[in-house]
Formats: sequence, C-alpha cells, structure tokens
Amino acid sequence: MLRLVRPRPLSVLGLVLLVVTGACSSESARRDAPRGSGGSAGNATPGGAGGGRPVVGGSAGRGAVAGNGGSSGQAGAGTSGSGTLNGGGAGSNGGGAGGIPAAGSGGTSGVAGMVLPGGSGGEGGNEEEEGLGVRFIGFVSEDDGADLPASTDFLTWFPTCATETSTQYAPAPRFNECHARGIVRLMNDALAELIPNAPHFRFQSFEIIADERLAVFHSDPTYSGYELQHLLGSKYRVGNTMTFLMPSIAYGPVVGLTWTQDERLNPDFGMAAVAVPGGGTSVFLHEFGHGVGFPHAGNAAGVEPYDYPGCGGVTIEPPACSCEPQNFMWTGSSFVESPGCEPCAFTPETTFATEYFGPKFAEIAACWVTRRLEPSDIGFVDGDCFGLVDYSLATCKEMEGAGVTCACPSGQIFVVDDCTDAGQDARNAATSEACDRITCTPPPERPGVECKGLAGTPSIGCTCDDGVQHFSLGPDCSTLTLAEIERICPPI
Ligand SMILES: [Zn+2]
Repeated sequence: MLRLVRPRPLSVLGLVLLVVTGACSSESARRDAPRGSGGSAGNATPGGAGGGRPVVGGSAGRGAVAGNGGSSGQAGAGTSGSGTLNGGGAGSNGGGAGGIPAAGSGGTSGVAGMVLPGGSGGEGGNEEEEGLGVRFIGFVSEDDGADLPASTDFLTWFPTCATETSTQYAPAPRFNECHARGIVRLMNDALAELIPNAPHFRFQSFEIIADERLAVFHSDPTYSGYELQHLLGSKYRVGNTMTFLMPSIAYGPVVGLTWTQDERLNPDFGMAAVAVPGGGTSVFLHEFGHGVGFPHAGNAAGVEPYDYPGCGGVTIEPPACSCEPQNFMWTGSSFVESPGCEPCAFTPETTFATEYFGPKFAEIAACWVTRRLEPSDIGFVDGDCFGLVDYSLATCKEMEGAGVTCACPSGQIFVVDDCTDAGQDARNAATSEACDRITCTPPPERPGVECKGLAGTPSIGCTCDDGVQHFSLGPDCSTLTLAEIERICPPI
C-alpha cells in the first residue's frame, strides 16, 4: 500500500541520502565527530559484528546534528544522548546543522498503510486528553525475559514512577509507561516555555515489540541501513503523531536520531525519532527539538552558524563565549573551550529556553507550528530494503517464508536473498541485472553531465560535470536542457 503524500516526483537522491547519511552522534567518553556517510546504500555491520559497546543506563546524554555535508543537502539527522553503565559523561560530534533540500529534491512519500499491533489510532484508555499523540515503541530481543532498560537518570527525573529493575541490564531501571508520560510532560513544558499556544502533546501509547533486528541500534562503524529504514522510514510513522522508536541498547556512539528540519506533524505525516532510553531522558527532548527544527546549541567554535529556512528565516550565529549547556540542544562538543572565554561547566539539560538560543528556538518553534501542517520534503520508500542503481531504487519486501521480492521501477519483479545490510551489494547487482536502464544524452555544450536511472523511475538522477553536484530530472530525459544544467551545475 503506497499512498502518495505529494504529487511530486520521488527524488531518489533525497531518498538515498535519507536512508544512508546524516547523523550525528554522541559518545559517552570521547567527543567524537563521525559524520554522515554520504554515499551509496548502507553497509553497516549488522548485529553481532561486535563493534561498539552497549549503551545502557547511564547519565545524561548529548546530541549533535548531522552535518550531512552531502551535495544535495537532504536533511541531516540529529542524534543525541549517550551514557554508559559507567555513567560516562556526554559526548558528541559537532556536525553542522542538517542541510535543506536541494533543488530538485523533494519527493513522494510512501506512507505505509500498515496498522500497528495494538492499534495506532489512539483508542487507548486515556482518550479524554486532547492533543497530538506521542507513541513509544520499544524493541526488545526475542529472548525470554527481554526488557527495555532506561537510564538511571529516569529515577531522578521521574521519582514518583514505580520502577522495576531491568532483568537483563540491572541496575538500570526498566522503561515504563509512567516514564513515557513523564517525557511527554517534559516536551509540553519545554515547548510552552518557548512559545505561547504551543501545541499540546498527549501520551498515546507504549508498546513493546520483540524484534531481534531492531533491538540493538547500530551506528558504528556506520549506521545500519536496515535499522534506519525500519525505524525512521514510514513503517512506524503515523500521521499527526510523534513516535519514539526505542531500541533496547546501542552498539556504537549514537543513541538518538531524527531527520532534522523536515519532520512534520500533519494528517499525512508523522514525526519519528530513535531514542535509546539508556541514553537518558534528554535524548528524547533533544530529538524532539531536532524534529521541530532546532539545530545544536553551542558557541561559535562549537557549532556552525545556522540559517533556518522557514517563515522568513532565522539566523543563528552563536556567540564566541556563550555557555548554555542546560539547553537540551547542547552537545558534548558544542560549547568547546575558546580563547578568552570562561570554560563551560556541565549542567544537566532542563530547557530549550536558554539565553541566546531560547529566543532563536522560539522563532523556529513558532514557525514550525505553522509549517508542521505542510507536506514534508523528505520521502520514504515503502519497503523493507532496496536495490540501488544509478540513483534509482528497486523496492524490496520480505515475504513471510518466501524470501525477498523486489520490483524494478518499471514493475518487473525479481528475487534477492535477504534484506540485510550485508546483502546490499548483492541487491544492487541483482537490480542492475534485472531492471532496464535509461541514460540521457547531455547537450553538446556540457558533455560531462551524466543522467541515468532505471527505466520507469519517477526521477532520473544526474551528476554535474564537476562530479559533485547532483540534480534530478523527471521520468524521462526531455527536461535535460542546457538551461537546466546551467541553473544547477557550476560553470565550466
Ligand atoms: Zn543532535
């Protein structure tokens, strides 16, 4: 079931970036700066490969926006938070703020029509409360007794919640509905501090899904494309609803992730963020902030200046010496020591409304309240995985007990072995073999411009003659004109 959210061509460039790039991370001990790995489809090591360590129950975490640095500037992802059993401090990278959609990007969104087990419509027992629903979906392993651990900071934030100890990850507390309700309260409080008439969020549901493949969030050495597709794609998004996807633990530095600047909350679209509860309460608030459109808070040396594109724009030029680590959008590396400035002391995050960033975030939040009802610029592939050739996708679905079936954009069907990250190269090769291609002939003035795609693709991907810039055409070569090339590609 593919429902088109907007009648624009699906931008494969955007989709590819969406799936693969752009993340920021945080690490408990070190201030690391992994960047989004712009490039082709994912190749992360899936479970068991051993990289990284589990992040469970620790102190508060941090996040960072992904600079995606990518040429076509799909939204960067934000992440946040970390913490370990050792109670490590926060860490994170300092990427720039996520990019904005490039010319020609955009896309169709396929929102999966699936109905979640347990109901997605908010028909829970607390229907009396009005507002935008917030769903919490925890992913645990299929082992007996598996549960969802939270950071010990949940005990401090929500002291009145009756809390059991995780059986798997003692002494971490077990994440529960009371915690989820507490997070929604914090979201409301934090947003109301920024703007009057902020939309009200209400707790909608908390469910646990036993799914081995999503119980551990892998970000090291690179993100698992499979996990991103299933956690941040269309599968669990519900219109008008914020959904937190909560793997039990994280292997790798990243414990929170969302696509920044392009999250929407409208009937066709929902916000979604990965948040590993072991990373701490602030992970949820940090990712929510990115979803609204906030970049990282930091000083001039710690974060890049940022231009928010909506509502006439908001320019953020962080002061040299600011120190606002109590801001949820702080990251471990964003208030770095700067010459002539007092060093920043760590303070737990409690607010978005700090001295410099508060008013900026208030402007962004006020704009988001109007923009959140617009269609989103990001699109999602309605599939379990895909094959990638020339910036075009074949969408693949796992069939119960019957392998994985993929469809070329032209509709031709073929079969691949699996949907794992490790199988990506094989899926690409199978796609290349099974699907017909289109290659456009560039105008003689710019022979180096390359446009190609799979037959039937709604948008043919192009690379400028500089080999760097990308743009996309419609479904055929007719829109590849010299004027269009000169509009986008740097002069030669
Ligand atoms: Zn972040």
